[in-house]
Amino acid sequence: MSCKLNVKQLIVPNYVKNFQCKQCGRCCRRSWRIDIDKATYLRVEQWYKEHNILEKLTEKVEADEKGWKIKFDAQNQCAYLTEDNRCGSQLEMGEDYLSDTCKIYPRKIYASSRGIEFSLYFSCPAAAELLLQAAPVAFSQLDYGDANFDFMPPRCLSYYLPEKLPSSNIKRYYYMIESGLIQILQERRLTIKDRLFAICQVCGRLEALDGTSQPPEVVSRAFSSISSMPIDTDYELHLSLLRQSFAPIMNAKREVRECASFLFKILAMQDTTGLALGIMKGAEGPMPLHAEVYRKQLEWYYSLTQENANRVWENYFVNYIFSKEFYIADWKTAIFKMMLLRALIQFYAVALQTLQPKAAPEQVLIQAIVEVDALISHSSLYVQDLCEDIQNNLGSRPLELALNLAYA
Ligand code: SF4
Repeated sequence: MSCKLNVKQLIVPNYVKNFQCKQCGRCCRRSWRIDIDKATYLRVEQWYKEHNILEKLTEKVEADEKGWKIKFDAQNQCAYLTEDNRCGSQLEMGEDYLSDTCKIYPRKIYASSRGIEFSLYFSCPAAAELLLQAAPVAFSQLDYGDANFDFMPPRCLSYYLPEKLPSSNIKRYYYMIESGLIQILQERRLTIKDRLFAICQVCGRLEALDGTSQPPEVVSRAFSSISSMPIDTDYELHLSLLRQSFAPIMNAKREVRECASFLFKILAMQDTTGLALGIMKGAEGPMPLHAEVYRKQLEWYYSLTQENANRVWENYFVNYIFSKEFYIADWKTAIFKMMLLRALIQFYAVALQTLQPKAAPEQVLIQAIVEVDALISHSSLYVQDLCEDIQNNLGSRPLELALNLAYA
């Protein structure tokens, strides 16, 4: 099947269109690695040479075995950050000397035959605030160079090319699948729990079809009868249905471990969370007890929140899907990560709300999203560490905890 990239068209969700950097400097004060590609480095070096200050470059940039990267000081602050939270590199040299990471953040960009597609990282507070939009996310098609959309093209683009996948891989219908999943998420007659549950069910069906050559009609049938699913059923029923419809996941130890490991890390590492929920850092004791404490607090949290927080969840997961998470990972992993993010964000939000009872729940949720996204979205090594931790700390019984927390 032929497949041509379409880099002249931009596909932009409205929240991405509305994004404006507020110059809080937060992204420049995290100890993230910011790589500088070779082409950019050479341009920057040339600029320093032309201005006779080449020796100053080592104050800003350093190299290691992976290549060039921006220096951060002992306070985790980018070497280019100015006192008034502006980017010194952009001020001195101009936009064209920025690394791709700095140019794009907090946007994520993929190129395909549909066009260049945008989504966001919510580790940026200004991006996360956009999740409060009340109307369902809508997508615009813009021409490259549209004056209303400020976009600095990166030097390197990531591609996804569903049309090129082998006929036995149903992700070659990814465009259709993606829009079906987004439609489910925006089905406001259902609770958020039910929408997520429906997505789990659909992915279970899609996984069963994978590895067989199917026409698109069969794939689209994976989305049928979703309306007959239970609406607002109780937790236990959800859990047992989830177990039945997603048996392969429930039996997959690796994912369950991964899931529980994240949660354990939060329990063990986040002092705020631990204190707020009465769980001391490094506390010994049976994990189900922790789950119970959490469950109680969660009930209380639910009594505070609803409509506004629900639209934040909806928008957050629309972004998750549009970020190609279901394309990049296998069905099980993408679902698990989704449930895990929900559990972690909820967990953190419940703790924050306990500490700030007067704060609006949706604002607390936004705060939690910023923290969890910063923790998870930018470091695959972190994920690996967590997996090792769970094996050392939780041994063989993470299943109940993981399920309790992930699907609470
Ligand atoms: S965290 Fe977001 S709003 Fe703050 S400086 Fe970075 S991009 Fe701008």
